[in-house]
Amino acid sequence: MTQHKHRVVIFLGPPGAGKGTQAERLAGEQHLVKISTGDILRDHVARGTELGQQVAPLLKAGKLVPDELLMALIRDRLASMESVRVIFDGFPRTLMQAQELDMLLEELGAPITAVPLLEVPDELLIERIVERGKTSSRNDDTEAVARERQEVYRLQTQPLIDYYAARGHLKPVGGVGSMDEVYARLLSVLGDR
Ligand code: ADP
Repeated sequence: MTQHKHRVVIFLGPPGAGKGTQAERLAGEQHLVKISTGDILRDHVARGTELGQQVAPLLKAGKLVPDELLMALIRDRLASMESVRVIFDGFPRTLMQAQELDMLLEELGAPITAVPLLEVPDELLIERIVERGKTSSRNDDTEAVARERQEVYRLQTQPLIDYYAARGHLKPVGGVGSMDEVYARLLSVLGDR
């Protein structure tokens, strides 16, 4: 496979910003595999796997799962791909994960295409999560846990914004508006419209 076949989009943004929905649509339209670490972990919890049992209390508390566990999952997913066409949603979340992902992508010869950052004001985020909690059946979609996730984001994930900005990958996207409006902005920063 030649290099231009690869496409690596890393979707950054705070919890509740709506990354999952936008990533799903982009993946569908551009034939990318959406790798949502939150979904993968919740699936393990639901199936009661060994990993699931290990991470369940962390998810419920809004804390991060250890980096090594995440990296093993990601390695596994990417290893089976002939060309790396992915959108990461919810990963990386720590500087360590970002650095390890860089090394992994280098090994695979698949450079980062872009890092869109979905921006939504804090007040709106908690509101959206609590609203989603009414139907999501996610036990971390409560106001208290949402605030903890926001704090974890501020401390652990926000540094990634500088990390990717310094490498010229960061593309801010306004996350307030209708789903279609936000999606159009996402496409435009990706240079696809
Ligand atoms: P949200 O973006 O709404 O906060 P996610 O579905 O992305 O939710 O993640 C839910 C939970 O899964 C996180 O609070 C965390 O416990 C765990 N998790 C997901 N991705 C990672 C990651 N890359 N590193 C560590 N923990 C993660």
